[in-house]
Amino acid sequence: MKNAKILYIILIVTLLVGVGCAPVSTPKVEEVPVEEAPVEVKPVVYASIYPMYDFARKIGKDKIDLRLIIPPGAEPHGWEPTAKMMMELEKADVLIYNGAQIEMWIDKVLGSLSNESLIVVEATKGIELLKYSEDDHDHEYEDKDKAKDAHGEYDPHVWLNPIKAIEQANIIKDALIKADEENKEFYENNFNEFAGKLTALDIKFEESLKNRKRDQIVVAHGAFGYMAARYGLQQISISGLSPQEEPSAAKLAELTKKIKEYGIRYIFFETLTSPKLSEMLAIETGASTAVLNPIDGLTAEDMKAGKDYLSIMEENLDILIKALGE
Ligand SMILES: [Zn+2]
Repeated sequence: MKNAKILYIILIVTLLVGVGCAPVSTPKVEEVPVEEAPVEVKPVVYASIYPMYDFARKIGKDKIDLRLIIPPGAEPHGWEPTAKMMMELEKADVLIYNGAQIEMWIDKVLGSLSNESLIVVEATKGIELLKYSEDDHDHEYEDKDKAKDAHGEYDPHVWLNPIKAIEQANIIKDALIKADEENKEFYENNFNEFAGKLTALDIKFEESLKNRKRDQIVVAHGAFGYMAARYGLQQISISGLSPQEEPSAAKLAELTKKIKEYGIRYIFFETLTSPKLSEMLAIETGASTAVLNPIDGLTAEDMKAGKDYLSIMEENLDILIKALGE
């Protein structure tokens, strides 16, 4: 009722403003001479998932026209591009994607685009990838080959190791220079500044997690392999590499057993998927729940609040210190 009233007021105001302005502003526009100042043509850069977008933003800043392909709030695993997005990509200068099969749609899209000048960047190219491994990983699939086909055998969540994130940012920097050679120095300086912050973040993770009581983290989906490998943690994931994978009853029972065995105090959940399973395991084991964000994507609220890769990694570190130290 209240919403309806607000909508009604907005409608009335819009109509009044529309009626009020239209006859006045139209001739005005024609009278003002068009300014001849050269329009700065910025490269139009599309980034598939949020980490690629954020890295490109840190390097390109106001010199690029940056757009995020997968909208805020959407879970990138299993996302499909729209026809409208395909049309937009035909006019793009640069397309940055992570690779390692988190964008299951990329081959199809690249195969059907006729944009011949498009600079396509795979931000995991040449980076050593981890094979997805978890002790009890094998028997969670009903059809192993099908699962492999659907999710790939490599872990795509490279950005969760800040040092690998530097490698990814470096690949993105090179692509921006290729698209806009004139601003080479600008991109290089911004990259160096960002790489410095990532190095500092890595040191902070290393130092802060030194005096922990346990190594195990129970996470919603298997996104934290690179982080775990970097800092000596052991990832136990509720779903598999993709949040779409539903754990079996047997797997849940095994998880409950492990949580009790390791004395795990926190079961992590994510912002883009349902916390249901994490909550259920927490109730069953007497643990608490908290967010550990894989930064696959941001919610619209987090975007609005100005959060980014660095601030979320700091939040991740804070909860890891708490969860592993208690
Ligand atoms: Zn993921």
